[in-house]
Amino acid sequence: MSLGVAEAAGAPGGDVERHEVVVVGAGIAGLTAALYLARQGVDVLVVSRDLGGQLLQASVIENYPGIEAIKGTDLAMRVEKQAKTFGAKTRYGEQIVRIDRLEDGSFELESSRGRRYRAEAVILAFGKTPKRMNVPGEDEYDGRGVSYCTICDGPLFRGKKTVVVGVGDQGLEAVALLAGLCPKVYYVTPTRLFGDPDLVARVRAAPNVEILENHEPVRVLGDGRRVTGLVVRDKNTGEERTLEVEGVFVELGYEAKTGFVKHLVDLNENGEIIVDKMGRTRTPGLFAAGDVTDIPFKQAVISAGEAAKAALAAFNYLQKRKGRNVEIRGDWKKTGKVKPKVSMRLSLKKRKG
Ligand SMILES: Cc1cc2nc3c(=O)[nH]c(=O)nc-3n(C[C@H](O)[C@H](O)[C@H](O)COP(=O)(O)OP(=O)(O)OC[C@H]3O[C@@H](n4cnc5c(N)ncnc54)[C@H](O)[C@@H]3O)c2cc1C
Repeated sequence: MSLGVAEAAGAPGGDVERHEVVVVGAGIAGLTAALYLARQGVDVLVVSRDLGGQLLQASVIENYPGIEAIKGTDLAMRVEKQAKTFGAKTRYGEQIVRIDRLEDGSFELESSRGRRYRAEAVILAFGKTPKRMNVPGEDEYDGRGVSYCTICDGPLFRGKKTVVVGVGDQGLEAVALLAGLCPKVYYVTPTRLFGDPDLVARVRAAPNVEILENHEPVRVLGDGRRVTGLVVRDKNTGEERTLEVEGVFVELGYEAKTGFVKHLVDLNENGEIIVDKMGRTRTPGLFAAGDVTDIPFKQAVISAGEAAKAALAAFNYLQKRKGRNVEIRGDWKKTGKVKPKVSMRLSLKKRKG
């Protein structure tokens, strides 16, 4: 099989495009997995809705080892560049909507654009997705006034009236940001206001912020092109009110949208993919890493580390599948004593050299 060469341009509805590994998601986990695989000479394609995932929302990261402070976007672009240096390929603006394991053990993936991919192994790194309001008008005006990333899109609404529908620190941070840009900001939150006390005080003190506690969104209004308002309801009285705004920022938290892979993986009670120490799911050849998994502590460095493990495990899986007696071993001390049959042990050699 000639892997590494797209058999077709992958046009919607066209032929299947083949790669050794397809990584789903280009957050820090997916990009790190691609870096590790490409560096081992594996033909890897990353398919993702966007480049960066949650990193796009992190204005500054101060706890990524080796980097004192970096914008989330810059970190994503750095890792992408690094992965591409070794030959990783990327495709953005595309969402994987179906994955099936074929009889020969390979996988077929289908994207929202109707493209089909075939891979010997797949790494699921599609993280967490912003929760939606689930109200009429939300889908219609998504990207046309409805936003799920205040840090990314807030500056586009400078001088305009906006509303944040949110909870906790995430909602408060969005309100604080918009209060510096917009003449009027409504904050619609389904509970009492809660979160970091300093943030709560800042938001309460902002003269251009109106807080609507115990309120919920009812529907997004628009003129066919753009958002013109949001209808909200007081949960105690049932009274409805129309907020005339041009921007609706949804900051309700994140969820693992794993429904489309549930026939292939085990999920925990939070809908997260259960993986073992090697990032393996219950389906051979299907690996997962990062926030989408049940690994605790959702942090960038943890996603990256877990993805590196999953990528190395996927590499070993591919070698076995090809009948090659080559594998990367994890325990350098042990491999130092045990003579490997044919071991790549690339990093060890480099260290010694
Ligand atoms: C505001 C904010 C601040 C943060 N600050 C820090 C911090 O300071 N330090 C820290 O360590 N961590 C921080 N985090 C957490 C950190 O960003 C995450 O733990 C980490 O980025 C998760 O990476 P991931 O690759 O697992 O998932 P994600 O970043 O969620 O990436 C998932 C990727 O998959 C794509 N995708 C989703 N579904 C599909 C699909 N079906 N098909 C194709 N692509 C898909 C998405 O578009 C995205 O590109 C912060 C998070 C947020 C939101």
